[in-house]
Amino acid sequence: MTYEKAGKIAAETLQYGKRLIKVGTPLIEVTSKVEEKIAALKGKTAFPPQISINNIAAHYCPDKNEDTVFKESDLVKLDLGVHIDGHIADNALTVNLGDDKNLEIIKASKDALKEALTLFKPGTKMNEIGKAIEEVIVGYGFNPIKNLSGHEVKPYDLHAGLTVPNFDNKDETKLKENQVFAVEPFATTGDGYVKDGKKSGIYGLTQVRNVRSGREVLKFIVDNFRTLPFHRKYIVEKFGDFKASFGLRMLEKEEILHHYPQLVERSNGLVSQAEHTVIVKDKPKITTKI
Ligand code: MN
Ligand code: MN
Repeated sequence: MTYEKAGKIAAETLQYGKRLIKVGTPLIEVTSKVEEKIAALKGKTAFPPQISINNIAAHYCPDKNEDTVFKESDLVKLDLGVHIDGHIADNALTVNLGDDKNLEIIKASKDALKEALTLFKPGTKMNEIGKAIEEVIVGYGFNPIKNLSGHEVKPYDLHAGLTVPNFDNKDETKLKENQVFAVEPFATTGDGYVKDGKKSGIYGLTQVRNVRSGREVLKFIVDNFRTLPFHRKYIVEKFGDFKASFGLRMLEKEEILHHYPQLVERSNGLVSQAEHTVIVKDKPKITTKI
């Protein structure tokens, strides 16, 4: 099964990446090694590996020349995705470089995920999953992030169809056998909402049409990433900084590319995340479990 193969690679790479996260290590070193590992295991990245720290919940992706290093007290989310022929596995975990008191918020999202995964059987309603996630996180004394959610995955489509709420959103849509979902509870000490931060350097294709400028860059994107998110560093590697920046700017202006912002907890709360990919079955199949 291709989903399961991708899941194995994603899981192995996540554990590998986790061991690289240490005070003083540059973030880019971890994401680069993670990318190399995925390639060595014969997978492809389904999106650029992300390292979001403290109050940043998602979409932080260090650039090639960035010198940011992990600091003592950082709460670090590592989120990575792998695909094989478009079959996606998406998983994430949180590493604590700070005080032991942060272990509780890590446990909150992890336990919420564990609880939620047991529910991925045909017939379960979406809001039952959200309710279970919310109850676990609130039970630990934290808030779930309500405007972030898990998502269905389909071939070459990372955020396809249905969303998996992190709270009881009253959605009574029922799960069907063999649907594939990435489930990702976020717990926070803040009030539980993210807002857009700075631009992330992560882009995704929204449409393909003829363009006058940036044609070569567009072709490279279509050939290599199709509709999956990518980082500007991959374009810079191929075309150099000047041509890549110009092409990306043109394609963004033409609304052919969407430029994702970083997602920051709006009250600056600390954020933890845990994520697995699961196939809906009477006995749910977690593809990203080692
Ligand atoms: Mn993810
Ligand atoms: Mn995801």
